[in-house]
Amino acid sequence: MSATAALDKTPYDVALENFDLAANALDLDDNLRARIKYPERILSVSVPVRMDTGKVVRFEGFRVQHSTLRGPAKGGIRFHPNVTVNEVTALATWMTWKCAVVNIPYGGGKGGVTCNPKAMSMGELERLSRRYASSILPLIGPERDIPAPDVYTTPQIMAWIMDTFSMNKGYPVMGVVTGKPICLGGSLGRNEATGRGVFYTTVSSCQHLQLAIPGARVVVQGFGNAGSIAAMLFHQAGARVIAASDSRGCVANPGGLDVPALIAYKERTGALAEFPGAPSLTPDELLATECEILVPAALENALTRDNAHAVRARIVAEAANGPVTPEADLILQEKGVFLIPDILCNAGGVTVSYFEWVQDENHLFWDENDVNLRLEKVMKRAFNDVLKIHLDRQVDMRLAANMLGVGRVADAARIRGLYP
Ligand code: NAD
Repeated sequence: MSATAALDKTPYDVALENFDLAANALDLDDNLRARIKYPERILSVSVPVRMDTGKVVRFEGFRVQHSTLRGPAKGGIRFHPNVTVNEVTALATWMTWKCAVVNIPYGGGKGGVTCNPKAMSMGELERLSRRYASSILPLIGPERDIPAPDVYTTPQIMAWIMDTFSMNKGYPVMGVVTGKPICLGGSLGRNEATGRGVFYTTVSSCQHLQLAIPGARVVVQGFGNAGSIAAMLFHQAGARVIAASDSRGCVANPGGLDVPALIAYKERTGALAEFPGAPSLTPDELLATECEILVPAALENALTRDNAHAVRARIVAEAANGPVTPEADLILQEKGVFLIPDILCNAGGVTVSYFEWVQDENHLFWDENDVNLRLEKVMKRAFNDVLKIHLDRQVDMRLAANMLGVGRVADAARIRGLYP
């Protein structure tokens, strides 16, 4: 999905373009732009791993710190065959604006290793994770840069990274990564947080548009952590999840899929394909399914100028990062689709990561209800802040979110003082 013929811009081109649009709308001066636009650090590492065959394979890895102006860099680690430094830099840039949109005291960072974890054994994955953690060790730490899970990285992988970091320090450092298992300083509610944030911002959008959630038709592309949890919450709220997909197939049921059964089926078989009683669809048919809420929750560039015309949704809730290209944005706007931009929609994950870090640093843990209530408050406030800019300034929701994020980072840079 990341590389289709229809794309003439890289993810980082898009990130820079979005920055320029926001900076222009805010009328930011050139000195501030020069200070906040580009990544502070990019580390490229070689990750040699002994495979089970005995052969050593070298993987490429990256850690990008885009900004530490508002606090330590914060952002996930992606293990995927399409990872490039361009993609990681774009994701790190988005993290900066995202943390500012939800107003948590972090900058932005991101990491990744170009690999196919699905083709690796647990032992190979552990050696890869530990070696990568050792390589980026000089950059990370609770006070400087805090990784978390992203596509195809898990709480177990976070545990290995935390352990590798702690072994080097000689004492346990819980706050070096978030998204850890609960028994190792993880937060209750972290696993569900991204999907929960998608749900809260969509509920707020429905209130704004006077759409009812009960009975609303929902389509989810990418039934992983973010997508499946969002689907479950929509289902529990009385919406009908009428189609869902993963990398191996799409399933549909106009009457509403049995989401708990679908999650159990995916856990058991590893895929959605051939879920009983649900005919399959092509990926294009899924995105063109008529619905109230379309949730792209897989990877970048799901909606492009080639397929955005076919969308028949009232709301597009960007659970994934960068799933809609700038050309597709314009097409959706013309069609009157209400967009919940990624840096708002999927910010629930980083928000509860922040809660996890706060709990780790204080050695005091909250119950799940407390986490969810705090998350709801943060997401609703961020949604209202973005909506206000959208309405007051008559700009689209993506630009409104970027204006909020870029504006807050610019304020921090201004107040800290521009380096002469
Ligand atoms: P995940 O690995 O749990 O799930 C990804 C899902 O997408 C998998 O089910 C996979 O099969 C599916 N997928 C991959 N390619 C697909 C395709 N072409 N069509 C349909 N499905 C496809 O990952 P995740 O953590 O849920 O992340 C998904 C997106 O959400 C990413 O863009 C990620 O950056 C973003 N995100 C995740 C979090 C988080 O906390 N997990 C936070 C913020 C943003």
